[in-house]
Amino acid sequence: MSDNQYRLPKTVVPSRYDLVLEPDFETFAFEGVVDVTLIIGEAVDEIVLNADELSFGSAWLEPAGGDQIEVTGVRLDPETERAHLSLARTATPGDATLHVEFTGTVNDRLRGFYRSTYTDDIGEHIIATTQMQPTDARRAFPCWDEPEFKAVFGLSLVVPEELKAFANGAKASSEPAGNGKRRVSFADTMPMSTYLIAFCVGRLEATEPVIMGGVPVRVVHVPGKGNLTSFALEVAEHSLRFFTDYYGIPYPEKKLDLAALPDFAAGAMENPGFITFREAALLVDPATATQVERLRIADTIAHEIAHMWFGDLVTMRWWNGTWLNEAFATFMSLLAVDAWKPEWKVFESFALDRSEAFEVDALSSTRSIEYEVIAPGDVEDMFDVLTYEKGGSTLWMLEQYLGREPFRDGIRRYLADHLYGNTETADLWDALAEVTGEPVGRVMDAWIWQGGHPLVNVARQGDQAALSQTRFGHAGADDGTRWPTPLRVRVGERTDALLVEPEGALVEAATGELVVANAGGSSFVRVHYEGELFEAIKDASAGLAPLERYVLLDDAWAAVVAGALGAVEFCELAARFGVEDESPVWKTLLGGLGWCDRLLDGEPREGFRSFVRDLAGPRLEAAGWEPREGESDLDRELRGTLVRAMGLLGRDAATIDRAVVVERASRAGEKIDGPLAAAALPVAATAGGEEEWEAFVAMYRDGRTPQQKRRYVQALASFPQPELMQRTLARTLDGYIRSQDLPLLVEGCLTSRDHGAAAWEFVKENWDALRSKLTPHLLVYLVEGVRVFSTQAQRDDVLAFFEAHPLERAQKMLVHALERQSVAVALREREADELAAAFAPGGRLGA
Ligand SMILES: [Zn+2]
Repeated sequence: MSDNQYRLPKTVVPSRYDLVLEPDFETFAFEGVVDVTLIIGEAVDEIVLNADELSFGSAWLEPAGGDQIEVTGVRLDPETERAHLSLARTATPGDATLHVEFTGTVNDRLRGFYRSTYTDDIGEHIIATTQMQPTDARRAFPCWDEPEFKAVFGLSLVVPEELKAFANGAKASSEPAGNGKRRVSFADTMPMSTYLIAFCVGRLEATEPVIMGGVPVRVVHVPGKGNLTSFALEVAEHSLRFFTDYYGIPYPEKKLDLAALPDFAAGAMENPGFITFREAALLVDPATATQVERLRIADTIAHEIAHMWFGDLVTMRWWNGTWLNEAFATFMSLLAVDAWKPEWKVFESFALDRSEAFEVDALSSTRSIEYEVIAPGDVEDMFDVLTYEKGGSTLWMLEQYLGREPFRDGIRRYLADHLYGNTETADLWDALAEVTGEPVGRVMDAWIWQGGHPLVNVARQGDQAALSQTRFGHAGADDGTRWPTPLRVRVGERTDALLVEPEGALVEAATGELVVANAGGSSFVRVHYEGELFEAIKDASAGLAPLERYVLLDDAWAAVVAGALGAVEFCELAARFGVEDESPVWKTLLGGLGWCDRLLDGEPREGFRSFVRDLAGPRLEAAGWEPREGESDLDRELRGTLVRAMGLLGRDAATIDRAVVVERASRAGEKIDGPLAAAALPVAATAGGEEEWEAFVAMYRDGRTPQQKRRYVQALASFPQPELMQRTLARTLDGYIRSQDLPLLVEGCLTSRDHGAAAWEFVKENWDALRSKLTPHLLVYLVEGVRVFSTQAQRDDVLAFFEAHPLERAQKMLVHALERQSVAVALREREADELAAAFAPGGRLGA
């Protein structure tokens, strides 16, 4: 029993659903009938299950071998999203079947059973599809909508003859159903949770199946996009093979479809057998996409396929376990993609995502990775960087500490012990501890039940390096929280894997030996080197591993944000990196410099631009504008990063002119190397006018690939004219921009250095209209851009607005954005004058 009013009683437990749904493509209503096979554990007078936005028709209970019991009344409780079905007489323990007829709406809110649209030469087409996680299956059919109530699902859809239907199971039969309709039935699913149900009806196509270890794999897409599916199939094939081997368990379903949907709220969803994606997360032309775009797709596909076992086959008992589900899939996708494309150095790219988590986790409003979830809606807060990126990082740290194979063996043990079952987080730690003999529970409990992360201080003590820890944050943020911290430390040529306990650790280090704490960069810590140790690692930076260089710069900028290092000192450190070869290292460096740019105006800003040109110019010149024979994907990526640096931050006239030419050629259909084409776009926008703006807007509709469309809509925020910004914002309301893309566009506008304030005015004025278009989660993504506002007046205004207009869900994510704003205000107050003095003519860093 549970005293949580949101948990369903376990007196009646489902084992199987036979579900028939018939959507009407004219009225968007649907009719449904469900027969649920139940086990009644104790005598009951009512049956309680989840239902919302549904109307009930006839219903009855049929005890095995007994007489039918009428359902005499249905009481709906919108607060708990439950239906109470009163029985005409008491049902006694035993097997029974519950029959319920119901109706609902194929909604336009991207959740439950919803509709997606696309237009082609013939006209507009509707796709009826689903997104159930976390708790929207109850909007599609009455059910026990908690992860613990696993059941087998036998689904039939009654659909217009000319449309195709897909679901978790393979198509088992298709029969005429009259009135131009067919009844399509699907193979039974494995026993699974309701949030994993998926089905989809529309004018769609599927690729020829590729058979991987007996499993047919297809990509489902709207007609005309078959040419964008080969990359996804290749990744899916690799991922299936990789995970089948890694987990040591065969793929748990019988087929695998990957479906690209024109409208989709999340990136993708791990429905067993039928994984759904937004188009940009699945369909791609590998010849014109950037490596970052391809990596994001490979990552997403591998992430979802990792869930087929971890999450789908073995599932969290309740929503508090969502973090582990997501963190694990995030980490596993890194392993899978790394095995597929080692030359992509995926852990370096992941460091960029991890930096986002570091930033949020440094706030006093951060949360522990796991927390108690009472109402299922509370879980909305879990779908953030602390779950995916911090959670995934802690697993990476643990894996590096335990060793790759022992970690894998522990995962195998855990899955094998809980097949088709539900688990708590501790079950995983227990399995890993059993296999490795390490204190996994003690270490991980500290990491998942405490918010924040350590600052490891490294100081010289005679012929030793003393490692101590505090909680990272601004002065005064250390509240005494400590972590048993897995850390690899390199002294000279020697690397040790340590568990740095709260009281610290000592490492032998002769005078003159280089000390690199967080060697390899896999621990979720910030590092502060005292005195000569900091000088020594700066001097040795060129010889560090790329991830270590990344960490050095990233930790330095974090220290600036925390008030422990000056922005001017950061720029001086950055100045040593002009010869850097790795795009992620440049990106973290440019992230810090981007903030400096925000804090500067007038002559000092000109001085800063010249500093950026001196830093990135020679490297871009060395890279050249044309891809070269034998270049790697990452070399080409670097070129794009440098073009952005020179064009956007350096405002280099020659770079801007060239970007305009490249963008025009790319728009005209010329084959331009992906990273260069993508980088040229926002740079060209800064020099564009009305004509270019019109062309960019059209490319959102007409782009040849989802990636190209995305690049163009993102670049709209880079046009310098205030009136074009107003016109860009207006397009968010007229239906031209899909709801799923609104956060991307508005975030770009809000974070625009010059137009952010105007964008915020627009958001305030049109709040109700924007809110009505978005799921609660997309709404918080839409407004997160306010985090960069860095004046007190802006901060007061934003706070007052959200006090008057509180968010319905994901409030924690908003609180993080608001605290980041106060961090930005403090950064400006602390650093702006000193930076301006340094970049003024004759200043330390000026010309
Ligand atoms: Zn996931």
